[in-house]
Amino acid sequence: MSDLETFKEIKEILISQRHSPEEIALVEKAYKFAKKLHDGQFRVSGEPYIVHPCEVAKILVGLEVDTNTLIAAFLHDILEDTNTQPKYLEEMFGVDVLNLVQGVTKLGKLQFKSKEERQAENFRRLFIAMANDIRIIFLKLADRLHNMRTLNFMEEAKQKKIAQETLDIFAPLANRLGIYKIKAELEDLSLRYLEKDKYYEIANLVAQTKADREETVNLLIDKISKDVHKSGINAQITGRAKHYYSIFAKMKRQNITFHDLYDITAVRVIVDSVRECYEVLGLIHSQFKPIPGRFKDYIAMPKGNMYQSLHTSVIGPRSKPLEVQIRTWEMHQVAEYGVAAHWRYKEKGSQKADNASDVKFSWMHKMVEYEKDTKNAEDFVKSVKLDLFSDQVFAFTPGGDVLDLPKDATPVDFSYRIHSDVGHKTVGALVNGRIVPLNTKLNNGDIVEILTSKTPAPRLDWLTFVVTKQASQKIKQWFKKNNRDEHIKLGKSNMEHEITKTVFDDYIKQGEFEKVAKSMNYQSADDLFAAIGYGETTVNKVLNKLKKPVEKKLEDNFHSSNKKSSKKDIEGLEGLLYSFALCCSPIPGEPIVGVVTRSKGVSVHRADCKTLETIPPERLMNIKWAGINTTKTYMTTIRIETAEKLGLLKDVISAVSDNNTNIVNAQIKTKNHVGIIEMGLELDNIDTLKKVIACIQSLPDVHSVKRIQTSSNLVKKPHQKSQKSQKNKKK
Ligand code: MN
Repeated sequence: MSDLETFKEIKEILISQRHSPEEIALVEKAYKFAKKLHDGQFRVSGEPYIVHPCEVAKILVGLEVDTNTLIAAFLHDILEDTNTQPKYLEEMFGVDVLNLVQGVTKLGKLQFKSKEERQAENFRRLFIAMANDIRIIFLKLADRLHNMRTLNFMEEAKQKKIAQETLDIFAPLANRLGIYKIKAELEDLSLRYLEKDKYYEIANLVAQTKADREETVNLLIDKISKDVHKSGINAQITGRAKHYYSIFAKMKRQNITFHDLYDITAVRVIVDSVRECYEVLGLIHSQFKPIPGRFKDYIAMPKGNMYQSLHTSVIGPRSKPLEVQIRTWEMHQVAEYGVAAHWRYKEKGSQKADNASDVKFSWMHKMVEYEKDTKNAEDFVKSVKLDLFSDQVFAFTPGGDVLDLPKDATPVDFSYRIHSDVGHKTVGALVNGRIVPLNTKLNNGDIVEILTSKTPAPRLDWLTFVVTKQASQKIKQWFKKNNRDEHIKLGKSNMEHEITKTVFDDYIKQGEFEKVAKSMNYQSADDLFAAIGYGETTVNKVLNKLKKPVEKKLEDNFHSSNKKSSKKDIEGLEGLLYSFALCCSPIPGEPIVGVVTRSKGVSVHRADCKTLETIPPERLMNIKWAGINTTKTYMTTIRIETAEKLGLLKDVISAVSDNNTNIVNAQIKTKNHVGIIEMGLELDNIDTLKKVIACIQSLPDVHSVKRIQTSSNLVKKPHQKSQKSQKNKKK
């Protein structure tokens, strides 16, 4: 059929669906617009490209979707396949249409690798999460359905791949949304390409048994129609074979042949009211013997996709088993069109129908975000946002597996999800090919590549940002098992730092920590300190447990200890408010200079910071690091120039993390065949930095490594922890 003929048909259907002349004019505008844009493009079948969007629109007009979805159907391929700018599309047809077209385009870019069922399920969920408007899924399903109908023009390998994907992803999606009509056709078409022989065998057998089936159904109608009439029930009774794929699936599941299948015929009775459904059921059961265990009341207990019907199987006329489905006309609409049935009710227009659909679609509360006080159907349509999986995020491995993670999950959560070994060895992550800090929140559809070292070396600060239980438990477990002595030392020093050494020693003498340890279910004080050290518990939790009278004393000490702690970090700044300059990010152990500022106390710079050249000498202060506090980390930035070589980045990242240093951010570019990596690091002191630089320097193909003045865009997003620790120091 030519595109023009198809369009005329669509137009007639629109008129019969009582669309306004303005709406129909807009749809026509979209058709003409798309036709012009796709001019000169052809499908594999040799047909002009415009035939495809027209057919997609025709499928959707059958679902009676809203006008904008229909307009988007004509335009769904123009962003991808023509030079149309989104802005222009918006000017022509409005932002709603633009969003729909962009949504379909985005979904089209997802690459799916069929594998196991769980992967397929994750992919379907990713799909729904990304679509965020149910109409985008309608568009995608219609697009896929027409592509399946024209699959015979493709080469065989492609046919199989697309058919498998359809069976794994799109047919179940249609089923979830209750659009049985599309689901059944997608399944049958998939079967035709995946199991060609079986498909034609079943098709033939179904055709051969058609007369037989019709006779059985006619006998059944003869038997019950008198009673049905007597009860004043207006019933439509039809009988048809189930769709090919469901017959195929059943044969496979039960390992039987076509002739052993007894219920390939489904008799469908459609009546006006729920009461009549049960009456008809009674009439049928009184004439034909029901098969035990086959009755299902999906009216009282609707399926997840809101399907409602009574199902029963009986020994029918001529002793042939028959499945009977009984439903009302409204239930029939939902059974065929699922979610899309909403628009069908809307089109019928009556007040009663709208209320009925409100009740009917109460399930959408569960499925989609839904404004309760929505006044009319148009608003309702707008509010149909898919929010099913908003608390989840789906990310890909480089191999194409989809992992489902909770919202706000990071690459560290991702790596522990793969395997705890991978988690422990994580040193960096590439998201969509770009290096990111390990605390980056992942987005739907991200491709995540985890960079690992040879030896496990998880970091305690990961606990501040991981969101999966799995990750945090594994990290804690690892620290429990490893480095016990170090953790005891660290826990003790953290505790001392909070309450001063004098108070700490007092508590030790009194055996107070032993008591607290027992009350917190630790074997000994050392276990408690170790737990603080590896982050299983916190200093504050322990402080709350320490005995009361001392706690008051402790509070006094707490304040003085803070003053002392600033004394401890830098000599020459006793009692002064200070902060670290972001331009040069000094780190413990290197020469520093204080600059007196007007409102922010003293700003601490590296002695060789260029900023100092412009500052009058009277504002400079002589200061120096008091000692090296291993529990704190500091930010600094280095610039590495390298040969243009793949894989070098991995080596650089390993060199950094092998030295107990975090990568906070990184920028990579190449210029005149020189690779330039600028990396924000978080580390404890100058010796560590020197080691890091030496390690990177020793790599082959690294030209130079330099500490640099941080440009402001690199420090825009400092690591969470370093932000906190810098703030803490401004006391
Ligand atoms: Mn398309």
